[in-house]
Amino acid sequence: MTDNKYNTLIVGGGIAGLTSAAYLAREGQKVLLFEKNRECGGLVNSFVRDGFHFDAGVRALEDAGVVFPMLKDLGIQLEVVKSPVSIGIEDHIIHVDSMDSLKQYRALLASLYPESEGEIDALIQIIRKIMKNMDVLYGIENPVFKDLKRDRAFIFKKLLPWLPKFIFTVGKINRMNMPVEDYLDTIVHDPSLKDMISQHFFKNTPAFFALSYFSLYLDYFYPKGGVGTLAEVLKNKICEYGGEIKTETRITEVISDRCLVKDQNHCTYGYDSLIWAADLKTFYSITQTGGLSPRIRVKFEDMKQKVCSHRGGDSVFTLFLEVNEPLETFKKIANGHFFYTPSKQGLGETLWDELNHLLKNFEKIKKSEICAWLDHYTRLNTYEISIPGLKDPDLVPPGKTGLIISLLAEYDLFKKVREAGWYDEFKVELENRILSVISGSVYPMLKDNILARFSSTPLSIEARTGSSEGAITGWSFQKPVPVVHKIQYSDRSVRTPIPSIYQSGQWAYSPAGVPMSILTGKLAADKILKK
Ligand SMILES: Cc1cc2nc3c(=O)[nH]c(=O)nc-3n(C[C@H](O)[C@H](O)[C@H](O)COP(=O)(O)OP(=O)(O)OC[C@H]3O[C@@H](n4cnc5c(N)ncnc54)[C@H](O)[C@@H]3O)c2cc1C
Repeated sequence: MTDNKYNTLIVGGGIAGLTSAAYLAREGQKVLLFEKNRECGGLVNSFVRDGFHFDAGVRALEDAGVVFPMLKDLGIQLEVVKSPVSIGIEDHIIHVDSMDSLKQYRALLASLYPESEGEIDALIQIIRKIMKNMDVLYGIENPVFKDLKRDRAFIFKKLLPWLPKFIFTVGKINRMNMPVEDYLDTIVHDPSLKDMISQHFFKNTPAFFALSYFSLYLDYFYPKGGVGTLAEVLKNKICEYGGEIKTETRITEVISDRCLVKDQNHCTYGYDSLIWAADLKTFYSITQTGGLSPRIRVKFEDMKQKVCSHRGGDSVFTLFLEVNEPLETFKKIANGHFFYTPSKQGLGETLWDELNHLLKNFEKIKKSEICAWLDHYTRLNTYEISIPGLKDPDLVPPGKTGLIISLLAEYDLFKKVREAGWYDEFKVELENRILSVISGSVYPMLKDNILARFSSTPLSIEARTGSSEGAITGWSFQKPVPVVHKIQYSDRSVRTPIPSIYQSGQWAYSPAGVPMSILTGKLAADKILKK
C-alpha cells in the first residue's frame, strides 16, 4: 500500500466520523480521517474565550443506550456529571429530576391554563406512556456495541428478553410518526397551550420523538471540561490505535470509479472503502460516477435528485455571554440546562405567515418591518439556555458566569439579510432583543453585568460544518426525508448507491442527533469490517 492508499478514508471529523475511525483503526485498518476545520468534533464542540468555556454545538448529551456503551467498548474513560434540566414559562419554573417531575409539569401547565386541565391530563398520560416506551427502547445497552459472539450472558439475560418488547414498541413509535403539531391538534385546543408544549421543537417533528423529550431531559449528562471533550477523547483513541487524522483538509472531489478523493490542495488519496460522515448534498454534488456501471449510476442520480431537492432542518441563533455575576445567582433560579418561555402567549401561526410574507417580498420590505417581526419573535419564543459553569464550575473564572442562549432560527432570513448587506447589524439587533427579553424576565441581573457578548447564526453553522441550511440535526421534517427513518431499518441507513462508499451521521438517518450519529458511525465501520 503506497503512502496515499488507505483501507478506509473517512470524510468528516464530527462525532460520526470519529466513531467510524476509532472502530476501524482498532481492527488494524489503515485509516485516514479528513476534517476541514482545525479541530474535530463538528457540532460536538467546545471553545474557550477570556477564560469562559462555551459549547458551540450540542449543549449536553443523551446516552440513549449508545454513548456509554460505545465509550465502554472502546475502553475510554470520560468523566461526566448529570445535566439536570429546568422548564420555565413566565415566572413558573420547575426542575426535572425524576419521573415524578411530570406531576410538576402538569401543575405548571394547569396553573397557566386552568380551563384546559382535562386536556393537560390527557397529554400527561400520553407522555407517561411514551416514557415507558422510551424505557424499553433504551432499556439495554445498544447491541451494536456488544461483542455478541462472546457475551452470551448479554444475549440470554438481556437481549432475548428485550427483543419482543422492542418489536412491540417499534410498532407504537411508527404509529406516532405524524407531525407533533397535528398530533397535538387531536388532544389540545388552546393554540397557546399547544405552542408551550411544542414550539421549541423543529417544525413537523415526529410526534413520538417530540413528546419523548421528557424522558430525554432525565437522560442528559455533561462531560467535565465541556461537551467537546467527547470528541477529544475519541480523537485520542483513534491516534492510540494508529489511525491518522488530517485536519484543515477539505475533500473537494470523489472520483468513485477509481476509488480516489481529492482535497483542496489537489492531493489525491486512494481507498478500498470510503465513509462520508458529512453533509450529503456536498457528497452528491462533488462525486463523479463516470466509469461505474449504468445500474449504479442510475441509482446514484435518483438518490442525488432526492437529496439535493430536500432541505436541512431548523437551525439556531446563539448568543454567548460573559457575565460578571457569580454562578450562585443563576443557580437559585434554574438548572444549567433550561428551556424557558418568557410569555405564555406562544408564537402562533400568524408569526410564521408573516415570516413567509417577509421572505417572499424581501426586496420591498423595510428593515424596520423585519425588526418589528423580530420583536415578536424574541418576545414569544422558547429559549434553550445553557450555563456550563453550573455543570462544571471549573469552566468559568471565579465569581463569573458564562451563558449560552439560543432560539430556533430561519436560515433563509439570515441569508437574505446578508445578501442585502446588513448581516452584522441584524445580528446586533437580534442580540439586543434577546438580552432585553431575558433580562426583562428570568435573569434581571444580566442587564448591567455583561462583560462581553458575541453570537452565531445559521450561516456560521453552515460555514463551520458545511451543514446545508445551517441544520443542526440533519434533514427537515417538512417533506418526506430522503434517508432511512425507521429504527428497525437503521442498519441500511449507512449504504449509498456505490458499494465501496458508506454514509454516516446526522444526514444518514432521521431523526438524528448525537446518539444516532454515533450509531451510524459504528454501523458503517461494521459493514466495512464484515466485507
Ligand atoms: C445547538 C445545538 C443543539 C443540539 N442539541 C442536540 C440534543 O439535544 N441532542 C442531540 O442528540 N443532538 C443535538 N444536536 C445535534 C448534534 O450535535 C448533531 O446531530 C451531531 O453532532 C452530528 O454529528 P455528525 O458527525 O453527523 O455531523 P457534524 O457534527 O456536522 O460533523 C461533520 C464534520 O464534517 C466536516 N466536513 C464537512 N464537509 C467536509 C469536507 N468536504 N471535507 C472534510 N470535512 C468536512 C465538518 O467540518 C464537520 O466537522 C444539537 C446541535 C446543535 C448545534
